[in-house]
Amino acid sequence: MKRLKDFAYQEPTTLDEAVAALAEGGDTARVLAGGTDLIVDLKIERLLTTAVVNIKRIPGLSGIDDLGEASRIGALTKVTDIEASTLVAERHPALSQAASILASPPVRALATIGGNVGRASPASDLGPALIVLGASARIRGTGGDREELVEALYTGPGRTSLACSDIITDFIIPKPAAGCGSAHVKLGKRGSGTDIAMAGAAASVVIAEGVITEGKIALASLGPIPFRATNAEEVLRGRPAAEETIAAAAEAAAGDASPIGDIRASASYRTTLARVLTLRALRAAIASSREVVA
Ligand SMILES: Cc1cc2nc3c(=O)[nH]c(=O)nc-3n(C[C@H](O)[C@H](O)[C@H](O)COP(=O)(O)OP(=O)(O)OC[C@H]3O[C@@H](n4cnc5c(N)ncnc54)[C@H](O)[C@@H]3O)c2cc1C
Repeated sequence: MKRLKDFAYQEPTTLDEAVAALAEGGDTARVLAGGTDLIVDLKIERLLTTAVVNIKRIPGLSGIDDLGEASRIGALTKVTDIEASTLVAERHPALSQAASILASPPVRALATIGGNVGRASPASDLGPALIVLGASARIRGTGGDREELVEALYTGPGRTSLACSDIITDFIIPKPAAGCGSAHVKLGKRGSGTDIAMAGAAASVVIAEGVITEGKIALASLGPIPFRATNAEEVLRGRPAAEETIAAAAEAAAGDASPIGDIRASASYRTTLARVLTLRALRAAIASSREVVA
């Protein structure tokens, strides 16, 4: 049986060296960022690997920048820095709120946004927020650079479309249009709001003259991956930004959910949470549409 000491460990200082080290490591090679997921997986041997490539010595992978028509967040940016960012709070409230309720402050001080997406947990907090904000990930791999929507990266519980030699370098979030608002809510088992989600919901809306012209809803812990509740989104389009519309969309979101029962919650309770949390996320997103800096 492989033990911790059996894998090669490297700390490259350039992206190309890191990609080469991962490619050399083969199918089980892993990027190490904050380590809040990976180190646990290695310690309990849920994951056996041949190579761990620590990317923290590579410059340029952290930070939050205003690019004008978009915001850029480096993959190594800590959750705690996203939580503290005024730019993120003003432009992308759903992401700011998701960061502020991910785990506890000590975990947030280590955890990175790239690691949250790379882990691909169905219970991810940042994933649903990034999805409703239309975020894309920039990726460096053996074939060069490419950009993919975050929602397209998730393929299954703990699985992404990334090759083992791919590294997410940063995330690009479009600047919100006028009348756009967003929000994220979750409920954890202890009710503290900072433990792993029994269920989570993020929503974004674009409102013109009181009518929702576009709405996005993404759910967590309500299916095998963070996913868009497309039937609920359909309910929103072209309808007044009013309580009746919100209730109809929340009902549709419960139908979009396909939860399992586990130690945190039964499937039927999660279906109820899909309805309740979608309701709350939509109300908050509509309220924030008047506050977001476009
Ligand atoms: C006590 C505790 C509570 C937690 N609570 C929550 C919670 O409430 N909500 C929540 O969403 N998560 C929670 N988590 C999970 C975890 O903290 C987050 O998923 C975190 O964001 C992972 O980031 P990291 O930098 O630590 O990733 P790492 O552990 O370093 O990596 C995680 C995975 O992503 C891959 N990866 C990392 N960076 C990249 C990159 N740039 N490109 C490609 N792949 C990459 C790694 O290879 C690995 O497979 C919790 C974890 C703990 C230990």
